[in-house]
Amino acid sequence: MADVHDSNTRSRNMAAIRGSDTKPELLIRRGLHARGFRYKLHDRKLPGRPDLVLPKFRAVIFVNGCFWHGHGCPQFRWPATRQEFWLAKITGNMERDARNIDTLLSSGWRVATVWECALKGRDMLSPVLVLDTLGQWICSGDRRLSLHGRHKDTGRQV
Ligand SMILES: [Zn+2]
Repeated sequence: MADVHDSNTRSRNMAAIRGSDTKPELLIRRGLHARGFRYKLHDRKLPGRPDLVLPKFRAVIFVNGCFWHGHGCPQFRWPATRQEFWLAKITGNMERDARNIDTLLSSGWRVATVWECALKGRDMLSPVLVLDTLGQWICSGDRRLSLHGRHKDTGRQV
């Protein structure tokens, strides 16, 4: 059967599906750049292909969609159909995320996770607060940072 998409359209679709170059990620990139930080994008050599890598600070940043990465927040809902498929898929993603973070930390990288709900939806934080917190963390020696929306902690987030 003929493929209706040319390869450019297809790679754009794949990028949307994979979650790269999503709006929250662009906001983080622009905001950090404006604050003078320089970074590499989607470094394939590192576990989990972090969205931003700041070698000078030994820091990586993941900008995670709450659905794909199984965040325990109000933006996450199990789909009503194909439940077994989604359970396996999302659980697999969460386990892989946890493994990648462990590997990065044990090789001396510092790891920040910015959840989509920190930048989108009714519980979002102000973008300035998110960027300032991230900037301070980059310059600190802290190994781990997780930024999410103002929802109640359900105890499920990584
Ligand atoms: Zn979330």
